[in-house]
Amino acid sequence: MTTTASAYGATSVSDPLEPLTIERRELGATDVHIDIKFCGICHSDIHFARGEWGEIEYPLVPGHEIAGIVKAVGPDVSKFQVGDRVGVGCMVDSCGECSACEKGEEQYCIPGSTQTYGMKDEDGTVTQGGYSSDVVVKEGFVLSIPDEIELDAAAPLLCAGITTYSPLHHWKAGPGKKVGVVGMGGLGHMAVKIAHAMGAEVTVLSRTLSKEEDGKKLGADHYYATEDEATFEQLGGTFDLIINTVSAKIEIDKFLGLLAIDGTVVNVGAPPEQLPVNAFNLIGGRKSFAGSMIGGIAETQQMLDFCAEKGIAPEIEKIGADGINDAWERVLSSDVRYRFVIDNSTLAEA
Ligand code: NAP
Ligand code: ZN
Repeated sequence: MTTTASAYGATSVSDPLEPLTIERRELGATDVHIDIKFCGICHSDIHFARGEWGEIEYPLVPGHEIAGIVKAVGPDVSKFQVGDRVGVGCMVDSCGECSACEKGEEQYCIPGSTQTYGMKDEDGTVTQGGYSSDVVVKEGFVLSIPDEIELDAAAPLLCAGITTYSPLHHWKAGPGKKVGVVGMGGLGHMAVKIAHAMGAEVTVLSRTLSKEEDGKKLGADHYYATEDEATFEQLGGTFDLIINTVSAKIEIDKFLGLLAIDGTVVNVGAPPEQLPVNAFNLIGGRKSFAGSMIGGIAETQQMLDFCAEKGIAPEIEKIGADGINDAWERVLSSDVRYRFVIDNSTLAEA
């Protein structure tokens, strides 16, 4: 039997999001049925729902920072039980057989992973995300939320947390490493907390100094404004690693100038525009311009356990369903401190 779920979603490129009713698939043998308690709002929800990354099908229920409680499990589920605290991030399936999946990097699945919303699922239906009361997901794509992390604060870890943890881990942020974080929004503030907890020396590169006090409280050692040209003169040749979390086009060449020899700028921001780079800025200093997408399932669990151990949680502002459209506008104007989280119990009344 399918389940009827209350949801909130987009019905066109430009109309405000509105209450919707959707169907969740019947519980399969390896499926977990989750009662969604909280869902974070990621800037990707907005890029995607507004067709900035390409045309999509409507209606679309966004949301890939899902935290909830297991309501039911299929007969072959072994990892989860009713009542467990669980999360779901940006993926709900992958081929499971390609070289990327075999390495536990399902996000780079060669035939393509199935994203939590807006993608064709195995059964031909289009996946719908976490701005909803319920979701049914294969157990292999469900994460355990450690008891130390509150459920509402856990939600943003499932995308903002893993998307910043993965490149910091891969490029070995740690003691003796200088890490720059460009943009202090949802992803950026998590990058600051995680890089600090890994032991790196952290510098925020925000457009202005308006969030400097917050940045330093979150763990930044230094804070500079990128609207001030002096920043680029002062910090030239400094960083081993720069994580760019900006949702819009920025001049990457200027940030390559901030790298030390062998340094890397990793792009996690996903603006629809191209980010051109002058080859000479890479050649002169053996520098790299790289990208990174979320993280694999095992790495996501590792990140959750790391956050529990280090006592790290996102800074959140909780909202009801009737606040989603305003929250989107506030994300677009960078008025977010530092992640909106929907209280999904309010969806049914919306
Ligand atoms: P967000 O909360 O809106 O943060 C983006 C930050 O970028 C803002 O806080 C702002 O920081 C800065 N910014 C915004 N507009 C700018 C502009 N025109 N010029 C310069 N800086 C600007 O967004 P988010 O949820 O963290 O997501 C950030 C980006 O990452 C989005 O493009 C999203 O789609 C992408 N993303 C990628 C992945 C992945 O797997 N790679 C996963 C999740 C999200 P300041 O105010 O400090 O300057
Ligand atoms: Zn996201």
